[in-house]
Amino acid sequence: MSHFHYQNGELYAEQLALSEVAAQFGTPCYVYSRAALQAACDSWQQACQGRDSLICYSVKSNSNLAILHILAKQGFGFDIVSGGELRRVLAAGGAAQKVIFSGVGKSREEIRFALQQQVACFNVESASELLRINQIAGELGCRAPISLRVNPDVDAQTHPYISTGLKENKFGIAYEEALPLYRMAAGLPHLQVHGIDCHIGSQLLDDAPLLAAFERIALLVDTLAAEGIHLQHLDIGGGLGIRYTSDQQPVPVGDYLQHLFARIDAWRARSAHTQALRIVFEPGRSIIGNCGLLLSRVEYLKHGAGKNFAIVDAAMNDLLRPALYQAWHEVLPLQQHARAAQLYDIVGPVCESADWLARARELALQEDDLLAFMSAGAYGMTMSSNYNTRARAAEVLVDGAQMHLIREREQLDSLFALEKIPF
Ligand SMILES: *Cc1c(COP(=O)(O)O)cnc(C)c1O
Repeated sequence: MSHFHYQNGELYAEQLALSEVAAQFGTPCYVYSRAALQAACDSWQQACQGRDSLICYSVKSNSNLAILHILAKQGFGFDIVSGGELRRVLAAGGAAQKVIFSGVGKSREEIRFALQQQVACFNVESASELLRINQIAGELGCRAPISLRVNPDVDAQTHPYISTGLKENKFGIAYEEALPLYRMAAGLPHLQVHGIDCHIGSQLLDDAPLLAAFERIALLVDTLAAEGIHLQHLDIGGGLGIRYTSDQQPVPVGDYLQHLFARIDAWRARSAHTQALRIVFEPGRSIIGNCGLLLSRVEYLKHGAGKNFAIVDAAMNDLLRPALYQAWHEVLPLQQHARAAQLYDIVGPVCESADWLARARELALQEDDLLAFMSAGAYGMTMSSNYNTRARAAEVLVDGAQMHLIREREQLDSLFALEKIPF
């Protein structure tokens, strides 16, 4: 996390003191480091160098247009889960031809729009969806490129809410059902069977489950080839984890890809039909997660008999992960102090007991202090809401010593501008 560091007791993003961002744009405020994003892009692209591959950034992890624009210019494709995300990609200058459309509930409108834009592939999750895409492609007079999201039934050993590769999940097609569904897809006139995909979960610290998933999927590709169904790509999904706590040691991107490509090479050596197979990735968190933080100001301190609370101006509507997954975000003061530290639960103003951001943190706090919730680049802003009629936070991109506002803080009036009083 070297792009965020202390200099003379002050927390910086690149060459800019974060207190300057707070002074200029207020709090709560998401702040991203452009250099951190560049470094994350480089580590993915360098590890894929010389390989026929496409890295499709998972738009849902952070969908700000400025972030998408940087990734598009860098040559990344995009993994989307809605028509809205496709519109964002296009608005940011991304190419539909590098877009993979995932998601378990694509509507007719979304499918039609994606076909008109000629996305690279639909990651299909059921027989009904295959039939629906076939029908709409027929109406439009085209053939839809499809992949089946197969459930490899491996345990990703992560939080149950972000584990997606087990039999009992709503996602994907059961492993045993994949073959008959591929046969069905191959027989539908307006579909073009293009690939196979999986995505087993998120925040995986070890790559063993990802490699196990690959082996299961590769076996299926071999079986399909024996039946004359030849695929053009294998999409292994996203899911690689990042470091939230100092004792977490996620496998580095380069190591994971090295392990995976070694497996792929061994597979290629024994299966001739795999030569033309492109490898697709759908990383989100491992690209943007550690590129951002959430800035917040301490409103009140409440020192109680059992517990001390720091009530800050950010809340679960800004950063949902602690409330939803009991997620841990490091909390850093913008100014380091010699004051005596105490244990605090850091909570927001929202009227829910689940509205906490961090628990039992040893901090030396005073009212009006500024705090940074680290590792908030992924699933931070995109999961935010207007609960309690709270305007969504501003977003700022730091580039060297400069800061750019990349999303204005929402205006309170806009939060009810679409509402009507019918009397
Ligand atoms: C959310 C998601 C991803 C990205 O997951 P990360 O853990 O952020 O890498 C990739 N593919 C699919 C289908 C997803 O739903």
